[in-house]
Amino acid sequence: MSGLLLKAGTLIVGDGTTVKDASILIQAGTISEVGQDISTPPDTEILDYSDRVLMPGIIDPHVHVCYDGSPNPEEVALMSDELLAIRGARLVEILLDYGITTVGDAAGRNNVPFAVKEAIEKGIVNGPRYLPCGKMITISSGRGSLGGSNEANGPDDVRRAVREEIGRGARYIKLAATGAISSPHTESFNSQFDIDELEAATKEAHKVELKSHAHAYGDVGIRNTILAGVDVLVHGHPLSEENIELMKKHKTKYMPTIVTYYESQLHHDDGDLPEYMVRKEREIFPRIEEGVRKAVKAGIELVVGTDSGMPYTYYGRSTAEEMELMVRLGGASEMTAIMAGTKNAAWSLSMEDKIGTVEAGKSADILVLAPGKNPLDDITILQEKENIKKVFLRGKSVIER
Ligand SMILES: [Zn+2]
Repeated sequence: MSGLLLKAGTLIVGDGTTVKDASILIQAGTISEVGQDISTPPDTEILDYSDRVLMPGIIDPHVHVCYDGSPNPEEVALMSDELLAIRGARLVEILLDYGITTVGDAAGRNNVPFAVKEAIEKGIVNGPRYLPCGKMITISSGRGSLGGSNEANGPDDVRRAVREEIGRGARYIKLAATGAISSPHTESFNSQFDIDELEAATKEAHKVELKSHAHAYGDVGIRNTILAGVDVLVHGHPLSEENIELMKKHKTKYMPTIVTYYESQLHHDDGDLPEYMVRKEREIFPRIEEGVRKAVKAGIELVVGTDSGMPYTYYGRSTAEEMELMVRLGGASEMTAIMAGTKNAAWSLSMEDKIGTVEAGKSADILVLAPGKNPLDDITILQEKENIKKVFLRGKSVIER
């Protein structure tokens, strides 16, 4: 069987370690061996990147393919599912171009995310591996304006909703624990699902080895999320010391989605965002930094997630910008930020045995960076696609420049 051997000057493994002068042997799309001294089987093509840094493909488990970053998310209501799917297909191509090899769709309308997924899998679109959560599960009249939601009330009904999303092909379960910035009729800090409902959903997801992610703001909703055993706290602002302590105890992972607030607040005075969004973001944005810093200090594991598609959060660059903000605003190390977008992000999609690190047995999803560029020295280099010279997905070169 013919294989491929990549020689790396420095390999960022994705698990917090690096290997100098590493060789990576790839066979049938899978990494079969990694090390400094491995023998090359016959019929192996050798690509020499011994002057370069190689790293795992980046993973962003939180985008919304039904949205494109326009200031008013309500405009989507005027678009057909067909149009959203065509636009979504273009958006996911941008992600791959920026080295994002796996993406999670964190709620979309009807079957749009599943259509995009199928278009990628059929080779119609040159996109990343794509794992949709289906619809967001919310209470009746809950926050779910994000292109359709599966409304459920009480633990039994929540189980019904989770089972429906699993049946539709969901690869994780997205829950709305509180109101939201982007829904005109809810307040971000008002809690919605109760602990027993969030717990029922999470247990149901775990039965089929899926993770639960819960959108939550405010002390009560965040606390409910953690106590219910939800796997990933999404947004989680403002994050109090009490809740950080609870997260440590319950091993909750944290996806702060800093970039979406950061980019949006730059446009608060432009007049294009809905008034209710500006008002709610102004309540939240100044309180993000403190909570994230404390969470990082306490050793809470971070997960990258951008909310790409939300106002001013554009596809591509935002994912690496989230890593930069984890470092610059949150005080995380570059390595911590990279792990948030590789190993931990893979875990949040229940894909930790297949992707997220460059190790034997994993899919060969690997980035080749430009000579002299190392994200451990400067995390911002990942925001320029020109610095990502080659993207391998399942061992195949899918982007080359
Ligand atoms: Zn979102």
